Amino acid sequence: MLLIHCPWCGPRDEIEFKYGGEAHITRPTEPDALSDTEWADYLFMRTNAKGLHRERWVHSAGCRRWFNVARDTVTNEIFASYKMGEKPPVEGGS
Ligand SMILES: [Zn+2]
Repeated sequence: MLLIHCPWCGPRDEIEFKYGGEAHITRPTEPDALSDTEWADYLFMRTNAKGLHRERWVHSAGCRRWFNVARDTVTNEIFASYKMGEKPPVEGGS
């Protein structure tokens, strides 16, 4: 079981959260200018990192806010939790 630190509520059990996929994916500003391949890359292609990975989580059984987590996908060690829009506090990885 993971112990995830919600930036607003503090540390809570993993069962209170839902995983939201890779973090820091930016929607293209001009989607009509993209080719079908570029649009498909934006929609479906994600990093399958082994090691440090930045991902979105929502505290669904708590404050219901979204935030980012920097986690090692091999060891499940969580290095940091940070609010949306904040710069990742851990360098490297995806
Ligand atoms: Zn919370």
